[in-house]
Amino acid sequence: MLTLNDYQRRFQQFALQSAVRRLLPDTRVSSCLRRLSQYPNKKTPLYLSFVKVKQSVQHKKTFFTGLDVCGSVWVCPVCSAKISERRKAELEHLLVTHRAQGGELVMITRTVPHEFAHDLKTFLTSFLKAEKILKETTAYRQLIAKVGVKGTVKVLEVTYGQNGWHVHTHELFFIEKGYSRLYGDLSGLGYDEEERRYHVPARAVYFL
Ligand SMILES: [Zn+2]
Repeated sequence: MLTLNDYQRRFQQFALQSAVRRLLPDTRVSSCLRRLSQYPNKKTPLYLSFVKVKQSVQHKKTFFTGLDVCGSVWVCPVCSAKISERRKAELEHLLVTHRAQGGELVMITRTVPHEFAHDLKTFLTSFLKAEKILKETTAYRQLIAKVGVKGTVKVLEVTYGQNGWHVHTHELFFIEKGYSRLYGDLSGLGYDEEERRYHVPARAVYFL
């Protein structure tokens, strides 16, 4: 059963999607859920296609079939909400399984000061390059091998505020077995003991 908040959230998603359509009229998001797709199968010509309203017995949610969907997690508020919900369920399953196997979890957040940002494209490209270079360093590789990282899940977040664009990542490390200094070692990558401040590796500075 959908609550009022669910309705409000879905209403807001469609309202936001309308705004994105006006800003990006030539992209797939502009026709997402607004145009017929070939239905019930890909051989059906469009003029014979139709739209059906269905309801999931399990989730009690109502949805359309027979409409184009863009599937964009970055620019479509409607698709990204659906995709995020599915990913959230997958991640929860991963966390429970990993913990049950005796594994450890560590979350690392990376960002850079705002004054580095000129425009979003430069900022984002530089930030991701610096992060890639950090991961290529010997110290990073040695640490990853030492703790037995099974895998990581990373989220990239971009926000805009008074100080301009702000880019950061949260990365969840699935580790075989932790040790007491694990968190410090992971977050201390790039930390200069003498200068008592963080450095991105020399090669990464080039991009910032
Ligand atoms: Zn969409």
